[in-house]
Amino acid sequence: MSLFNNNRDGAYSDGELRAVEHSVLGGRRILWAGVLAVLLPLAILLGLQYWWLADLERNSAIARKATLDNYLETITKEVHYFYWKISERALNLPPEIFTDEGIKKAGYYFKKKEIVGAKRLFVVSYKTKHSIYFFDPETQKMVAPDFSEETVAVWAAASPWAYLRKKGAKIETTTLSVDQHDPSNRIILNPITDENWKLVGLAGIIIDQEIFEKKVLPKAITASLPKFEGEEKDELLVVVRDGQKRQILPHGEAANPKNDRVRRTFNFVFTDWSISLQGDFATPEKWARANFALNMTLSAVLAAVLLGGIALTVRTALREMNLSAMKNEFVSNVSHELRTPLSSIRVFGEFMRRGRVTEPEKVREYGSYIETESRRLTQLINNILDFSRIESGRKVYTFEAADIEEILAGTLSTFSYRLRDKGFDLSYHGPDEPLPEIEVDANAIDRAVANLLDNAVKYSDGDRRIVVDLAQDGNEAVISVSDHGIGIPRDQQERIFERFHRVSTGLVHDVKGSGLGLSLVRHIAEAHGGRVRVSSEVGKGSTFTIRLPIERDTGEKQ
Ligand code: ADP
Repeated sequence: MSLFNNNRDGAYSDGELRAVEHSVLGGRRILWAGVLAVLLPLAILLGLQYWWLADLERNSAIARKATLDNYLETITKEVHYFYWKISERALNLPPEIFTDEGIKKAGYYFKKKEIVGAKRLFVVSYKTKHSIYFFDPETQKMVAPDFSEETVAVWAAASPWAYLRKKGAKIETTTLSVDQHDPSNRIILNPITDENWKLVGLAGIIIDQEIFEKKVLPKAITASLPKFEGEEKDELLVVVRDGQKRQILPHGEAANPKNDRVRRTFNFVFTDWSISLQGDFATPEKWARANFALNMTLSAVLAAVLLGGIALTVRTALREMNLSAMKNEFVSNVSHELRTPLSSIRVFGEFMRRGRVTEPEKVREYGSYIETESRRLTQLINNILDFSRIESGRKVYTFEAADIEEILAGTLSTFSYRLRDKGFDLSYHGPDEPLPEIEVDANAIDRAVANLLDNAVKYSDGDRRIVVDLAQDGNEAVISVSDHGIGIPRDQQERIFERFHRVSTGLVHDVKGSGLGLSLVRHIAEAHGGRVRVSSEVGKGSTFTIRLPIERDTGEKQ
């Protein structure tokens, strides 16, 4: 941005300055309104999300429970399907075999199909000598019943059917039926009818419980697992208990029924048995809560990032606004600084041209005034030009070996001439031993010291003693300018080196300035590989110290 974008030749009036102040304040208000406009919806959004997540937490718990329950349902379905399938395969016998002759062939039908899961296969026939025949897997023939528990169980299971047959009932829908009166001999029956839907016999299976426990169940459990969509598959514990609530699976350690998360019963055979899920994994509630916490954390992080972004933007915007206010003030100050000496020079020049002043004393006085004021103007314009070069990156320093004391002497002589009649006491303390030559840009050093001296004069207040000191400290040349003026508050001592920054409290308010001088001094010191510091106390004065390294790389520096 150009420093000279104010093309008016006059300074800003107080009213105009107030307008600038107002516009900055108004800008701030709009900025905060903007921030509020972002924060308010954000807060509402977060609130809504909280509410939604709390609702989700409840629903997830239910959904999770449903998922676990689905898993159990799949297992029971697998079991159902297994026994249904073996019964369909084994028990579909033709009605013709239910005769004395035909019954012998039943063995042939049974032997054709290898049936896993059945302890015994049998038929019950109503038209033959015996009514019950068991399949003997050794001889692969049908044999007469013995007096075992199994026979009794088959009797018991078949008797309702015998009653139906006696009544001559038509059995139109034949479907598998299960009898579990004797838990150790659970029976699946398939009623066989003739072409008139009359019952001719029954084919049946006595279930092998051991195979159920050791093969059918474990297989159903592992086969169903992939269908279960949960992340803690490994931590799931499937517990199976029989009709007496004795634990069948898992073997070993007893699982406390209180820890069952979901429970179901089997639904075709073993209907008095239960299957449940346990695990140290999160309960549905805990799982939902963990998800809730994760989601809320993510939202909080997002909000924090957003707020951080907003804070950064606000900070940048405020800085820009401050800078713009400072630049406005700068333009106002610079115009004033230019206008005041120019009008004095014009007036004194006019006096002299018109011959109004004739006494040599007065002529000298006016001449010296014109000279001082034009020097001040040159200094100001030099500062502005330097600043503009630095800002646009065009500032070039030319380093040459030079005697610092000589440079200082030049600067001081100009100043002492300027201050001669103003009552300032400008003293100089040189080094004990002559300093070696240093690679410096003599013009730049002269300008830096001139700026410090200029400030010492401007902010001197009543006490007009100024001391310039040159010394060597190790590998450094130390130039210091001390005054006994108004001093600088501690919290401002770092900031005064920023461009445009001016202390806006106390006496300094009355002194006009551009706010550029010290930023140039710092730039010059740093370009020489050195630094500038201030030590100051309000009301007592300030000492500015420039430290320049004595030995450093030579050459041109941009
Ligand atoms: P300017 O003097 O044109 O305002 P400078 O960059 O030279 O700009 O100084 C920045 C500010 O530092 C001044 O406005 C003033 O408040 C403060 N300052 C600089 N030198 C002194 C000093 N010797 N004594 C008191 N205050 C000073």
